[in-house]
Amino acid sequence: MIELKDITKSYKVGKESFDVLKQINVAIHQGEFIAIMGPSGSGKSTLMNIIGCLDRPSDGKYLLDGEDISTYKDIQLAKVRNESIGFVFQQFQLLPRLNALKNVELPMIYAGLGKKEREERAKQALTKVDLGDRMQHMPNELSGGQKQRVAIARAIVNQPKLILADEPTGALDTKTSYSIMEQFTQLNEEGTTIVLVTHEQEVAEYARRMILVRDGEVVSADEQVRRVTT
Ligand code: ADP
Ligand code: MG
Repeated sequence: MIELKDITKSYKVGKESFDVLKQINVAIHQGEFIAIMGPSGSGKSTLMNIIGCLDRPSDGKYLLDGEDISTYKDIQLAKVRNESIGFVFQQFQLLPRLNALKNVELPMIYAGLGKKEREERAKQALTKVDLGDRMQHMPNELSGGQKQRVAIARAIVNQPKLILADEPTGALDTKTSYSIMEQFTQLNEEGTTIVLVTHEQEVAEYARRMILVRDGEVVSADEQVRRVTT
């Protein structure tokens, strides 16, 4: 589905140039569930932002379903992002003045859907993440786990084929983390491709493949981490 070829990302800070990603080669296949791990500062978030078309590489190719999108204009990339990718973040990134339902409606506003359809689909998505009884709650009236579920509902509401989650359990306690990972597992079993960044081995074990990043390089991309479940 996605192929990154010799992706490099450098930043200029003052007069110095830093290579944050160095010739990364990664393939993500449809239906995969991948955990990206690596030390802090190794380039995981930078890589996620490039995969999510939130940022552009300095060099290299990005193939989406065989098509080179590294040459796309910003507006074309925004379309790809809105139609095919859902995002989940460590700090949830909900709008504080909108209730759960309105937060989930946001991506559909960008997609230009009418009010009735938006509401209907947002309700469906919230019900799917077990928040059918919290639709009118404001973010500050929800627990951390519930906020992350709202964020997941928002991520899936446009039915993306890929979900990117950067440390989605980083702000949650262990038990809540597991329930969020169960949610991702269910989405993956229904066919959604999932790529997440985590520091925690227990969280990574929900994935089926691990990509290890160190100092801007992929040092391993085929480790199987799936727990044996009976
Ligand atoms: P990780 O998510 O693995 O902790 P990041 O991808 O956030 O790492 O950052 C990797 C490196 O890139 C860090 O050394 C960071 O300082 C640097 N970096 C990230 N964003 C920028 C930026 N906008 N300008 C300059 N350097 C950056
Ligand atoms: Mg990071």
